[in-house]
Amino acid sequence: MLFDCWDCTAADLPPRSRLYSLKPIGIGTPFVESITGYVSRLADAHAVSVADLVGRELSLVGSKPVRPFGPFVPRNTTTGPHGFRGRAIAANGLGETAKRWVGTLERATLQTRLQFLTLLPFEGVLTNSGLFRNIRAWCPVCYGDWRRADDPIYEPLLWTIRSAAICPRHGQPFEHTCPHCGEAMLPLGAYTRPGHCSRCLQWLGSSGTSKSDRGFGINEDSSVALRRTNAVGELLAAAPALTSPGDTFKTRFRDCVETVAEGNVFAFAKAARMSRPVLVRLYTGQSLPELGTLLQICHEVGIPLTTVLANDAIAAGVHWTRAKEALVSSRKSHKSHRVALARSREQVRLALQDAINEQSPPPLSEIARRLNYEGVEGLRDVDQDLSKQIAVNYRKSGRSHWWRKCRAARICERVDIRKLLERSLAEEHPPSLYALAVSLGYANEGYIQRKFPELCYAIREKIRSEKRARVSNMEEALKAALTEKTPPSLEEVRRRLGYLTSKVLRNHFPTLCDELLARRRLHRHQQRIDLKKKLQSALLEWPAPSLVGLCKRFDLPRHCLERMFPSECASIRARYRRARKDASVLRTEQLQQEVRKIMRKLHSEGNDPTIKQVRILLSQRNKWAKISTAVATVRKEFR
Ligand SMILES: [Zn+2]
Ligand SMILES: [Zn+2]
Repeated sequence: MLFDCWDCTAADLPPRSRLYSLKPIGIGTPFVESITGYVSRLADAHAVSVADLVGRELSLVGSKPVRPFGPFVPRNTTTGPHGFRGRAIAANGLGETAKRWVGTLERATLQTRLQFLTLLPFEGVLTNSGLFRNIRAWCPVCYGDWRRADDPIYEPLLWTIRSAAICPRHGQPFEHTCPHCGEAMLPLGAYTRPGHCSRCLQWLGSSGTSKSDRGFGINEDSSVALRRTNAVGELLAAAPALTSPGDTFKTRFRDCVETVAEGNVFAFAKAARMSRPVLVRLYTGQSLPELGTLLQICHEVGIPLTTVLANDAIAAGVHWTRAKEALVSSRKSHKSHRVALARSREQVRLALQDAINEQSPPPLSEIARRLNYEGVEGLRDVDQDLSKQIAVNYRKSGRSHWWRKCRAARICERVDIRKLLERSLAEEHPPSLYALAVSLGYANEGYIQRKFPELCYAIREKIRSEKRARVSNMEEALKAALTEKTPPSLEEVRRRLGYLTSKVLRNHFPTLCDELLARRRLHRHQQRIDLKKKLQSALLEWPAPSLVGLCKRFDLPRHCLERMFPSECASIRARYRRARKDASVLRTEQLQQEVRKIMRKLHSEGNDPTIKQVRILLSQRNKWAKISTAVATVRKEFR
């Protein structure tokens, strides 16, 4: 029978998603889409605004309402206000907010890899602070290219990150203001649409050919910015391949410091142009770096950012060895950095013990040279007994003072020594006599001193006078710093003078340094008192200022202000909130009065007023929901 071959079992249908199951764009590439961009694309696909999608739909799907919701706005309403407030930068980040957005969107679309549209894969690697810019940024040429190629228009995650400033495809800085209305906009506004201004709704892409086609050049400054952007792009592209990046990062970073600088954190900090305490905290895993900090370390040390996150230790090791070679050669060329990277007391002691066991005992000066010390004092300081033992062994070997034995070859011809001394004297910064003697093969400067006393005296005198000038410069700089209105820190003074550490200032002028620090403390104390007074007077200002506004006025970050003056900040916040509430009540009352007047007039003319009629006659534009509430209230009064 024909009907027997019919299969009447129900077909196995895949589960249906509540919203369109849009596929996220570019996962595993530097141009991966952002979650805020995904939301705006989703809203566009459903032909609704972002505000409606988030406020009326997504907030009902999630276990908790996805941010951002205002504190006074009711939720779970499909008829009332949508309650959405633009911003939502944290949605792209690596905290609870991002997890909530990802969870909600995955539930609504049944997509599964949406965490890669955020920085969530880098949890335990980066801190949340300073990651994103507060306003929307875009490359108009990218928009234009996508539209011409009929590709989907979207907002890459790279564009939201503060450390990325230049489009890697077109080499031009991102735009921040709309070319039509001249306004900046929030990363996710109520009416954000991919590729369009959320204020005037105009197209943000360029209409002509891409700038790279027209030979848009990259200057020196922007090449650094481009390198940083590319590094961020590589990081985003690597996200899906990472497994437990938090733990990997901690291990890799330690390995990196131990390979590149042989565990000498101070040397690594210098190479990375970072402060030592910051690097120590990163090295010991006490704190996580900001993205900008990590980019700086990798750029200065010369390693790709992905090597401190990837699982491939061998590939990373190749980059680190190369970085180490560069670091060692740069330190050798720098006069003040002649000491080897690895010079912990334990390591030096080990080197001394090895030297004792060598078959032909080396002189102590030879070991000092091997370890890149300028003299043998450093070795004696580490272990006097071992140093003595090495010297005794060398003497016993009969190889010491060979030059004193008859028919011994000269270490260097006198005429060559004279030439070197004269050349050094003519130099602006002559090297020390010891360094000159060692460069010729002598153990110390004794022989040269005996043969050319005048030249040696002249060189010493030149070095001494140079030192005197340096010290007097130091004194002048410290005295000048004391007269400054805002006393600088010792760190700032040493930077102005070009020293590597501020210890040198303290060694020469401890009293001046103390005086400067005391003045600085006093100045800061005074600043604090002034700021407190300003905050207290702000509490009397009308209209009540917001805390954010005050932070802008005083040019201080909010967390600083809150840490210093918690009670004042709480009062300012409470007062501002109260004032806003009062203003809102007043506005509602005024609206009601006006609506009452209009409705009375319309009634007297024999009409039953509708909301639309009232709205037309109102002196100011108001939201439909507010007018409808006011009309309903007045209607009740009339009954
Ligand atoms: Zn571009
Ligand atoms: Zn615009």
